[in-house]
Order: sequence, then C-alpha cells, then structure tokens
Amino acid sequence: RPVLGIETSCDETACAIYDGERGLLAHVLYSQIRLHAEYGGVVPELASRDHVARIHGLVRGVLDEAGLAPANLGGIAYTAGPGLIGALMVGASVAAGLATALDLPLIPVHHMEAHLLAPMLEERRPTFPFVALLVSGGHTLLVAVRGVGDYELLGESLDDAVGEAFDKTAKLLGLPYPGGPELARLAERGDGRRYKFPRPMTDRPGLDFSFSGLKTAVLTTLPQTPDEQDKADLAASFQEAVTDTLAIKCQRALQASGYGQLVVAGGVGANLRLREKLAERARRDGFDLFFPRQAFCTDNGAMIAYAGWARRAQGRAPDGALFTTPRWPLAELRTPEAAA
Ligand code: ATP
Ligand code: MG
Ligand code: FE
Repeated sequence: RPVLGIETSCDETACAIYDGERGLLAHVLYSQIRLHAEYGGVVPELASRDHVARIHGLVRGVLDEAGLAPANLGGIAYTAGPGLIGALMVGASVAAGLATALDLPLIPVHHMEAHLLAPMLEERRPTFPFVALLVSGGHTLLVAVRGVGDYELLGESLDDAVGEAFDKTAKLLGLPYPGGPELARLAERGDGRRYKFPRPMTDRPGLDFSFSGLKTAVLTTLPQTPDEQDKADLAASFQEAVTDTLAIKCQRALQASGYGQLVVAGGVGANLRLREKLAERARRDGFDLFFPRQAFCTDNGAMIAYAGWARRAQGRAPDGALFTTPRWPLAELRTPEAAA
C-alpha cells in the first residue's frame, strides 16, 4: 500500500505519496523562500512556525491529488534528520500523529539517503551498485551505493558544502537569496575563462573536497566597483572551478569503485553546467549518468515517500521509531539497527 512522505528538514514543506506498483501518485510542496529572503538566509524559528502553518493543508492536498483516503495508506515516512531540529520536529510530530491515529507503521527517513535515491523516481533509473555525488546546501558527499541502506562514504567536503559555497559567493556578488540558482543564471552571461581560480584538492590523490578557498578567491578578485560584466565573469569562473572539481572527483570515484554508473542528486544537481560537464565525460569515458528531474534535486516530499517505501519494501525500516536528529552521518545507516 502507498506510503505518505513528509519533508520539513529546512525551508520546504512537502508531502508526497508513493506506491510500489503505481509509482508516484502525487506530490505537493510549499517553499518558504520568500519568507527568508529578506534575512538573506533561513531563519530556523520562522521555518518551524511556517511548517506548522502549512503542513495540514499539504497533507490534505496530497491525499486529494492522489484520490486517496487516509485509510488507503500503508505507512507514514518522515524526514528524521539531518536538518534544523525545530523544523524536523514539525514533520515528525504530524507523521507520528497520523501513524498512531491510522495504526500505520512510522518510517524515519535519512534526508541524504532520500536525496540519493531520488533518481529512482525517474523512468530511466540506475541499478545497484552506483556512485552517488550528493551536492546540496549542507552536504558534499561521494558515496558508494551498493543497495538501499548499504552506503560507503568515499569522500566529503572538509569545509563548506558546494551549495553553501554557491550561496556565499552569490552574496559576495550582491545576488538575492538563495544565491545558487541566481549565480548560475548570471554565469550564463559571463566568460568562465577570464579569472583563473583553483580546482581545490585535485592536485593530490583522494576524494575529499574543500570549497571555502574558492569563495575567498572570488572575494579577493572582486574589483572595488565591479560592473555587471565583471560580476558575470566572476560567477562563470567560479562555476567553472566548482564544476570542474566535482567532475574530476566523480571520475576518480568511478575509477576507485569500478562502478559504471554515476548518480548526481541534491540541489546543486540542478546546475546545468555541472550536468553538461558530467554528460560530456560520461560519453567520453563510457559511464552511465543519472539525475533526478530538476524539481526533485532540491528538497521535496517525493524522495521521502520513495525512501520510506524502499526501506519498508526491503524490511529495513526501524518500525515505530519517532526521533529527530540535527546530525546523522550517512555511513551510520548501514544497518537499520544503527538508525533506530
Ligand atoms: P541538505 O540537503 O544538505 O540538508 P538543503 O536541503 O538545504 O541541504 P537542497 O535543497 O538539496 O539543500 O539544495 C539547496 C542548495 O542547492 C542551495 O545551496 C542552492 O543554492 C543550491 N542550488 C539550487 N539550484 C542550483 C543551481 N542551479 N546551481 C547551483 N546551486 C544550486
Ligand atoms: Mg531548501
Ligand atoms: Fe536537502
């Protein structure tokens, strides 16, 4: 029976329903971007309050859209972490309330596991094993994925996450929050070869990343009174440096693991230049490349519903567990016991 997924880890309130036979039945999302824009970043307390204000309407809405009654559901999945604790608790509480009232299993979902399984919602999807590059606002991870719940961390960022680096650099360039997509848009009009930025940590072996130096490089290069072209060229040069770095490390991870498939997920996976570069390499080096559709790169309910369903389908969901956690290393997910 279909699983309802609830996502409230940050600034998106989202719900979706996934069915093993019929696929994704419905998904709804409310983004708080406008609420946080005037502060230049997510304000946790405002996020929690807004989740409370929206969530019931969204749960009703997704059931209507799917043409289902609550009694038709087979489980309630929710994002248990990592994320903003107050925000997570809203989704967890609603999920636990529904699960109790409907006498359904409650399925805690790891937010990054959901991001990495998001390509499974597409018609053209990977098969296990594959390498996943997870690039979001809070994480930069290279993961060997052998199956649902079987993850080995290959590399991660030692400082800023890629999305964070995009957002901070966008701020330096005077772009509105959230800066990542804005910076990418500006970069389209820029010359990415004008400024020479480093490709951090590619000159030595290893699969870890470091992006905070790039942001500093942009800051020190930024002219006193930059004109529009300077800014566009800086944005493009920054984007080239980041996407080159990611592409190089992906290639190394594929080589190291011997896997022939690469999955790219998380908000920065929406970046067109990154997609373009990886597609080029995939053609050249003969690996298969998978992305979630753009809307399922950033936070959404569909990936939570799917991850919850997949965990249950494999009998690997810690049943009845209600918890939230701001920090939760993906590697600890290896056994369901560790997650419970
Ligand atoms: P996490 O999943 O690590 O908890 P998050 O959920 O906030 O973090 P996502 O919603 O997956 O992150 O992604 C948001 C991030 O993606 C932001 O940093 C945003 O700037 C970035 N982003 C979105 N679209 C683009 C784009 N086209 N180019 C670059 N960055 C982008
Ligand atoms: Mg978000
Ligand atoms: Fe996310």
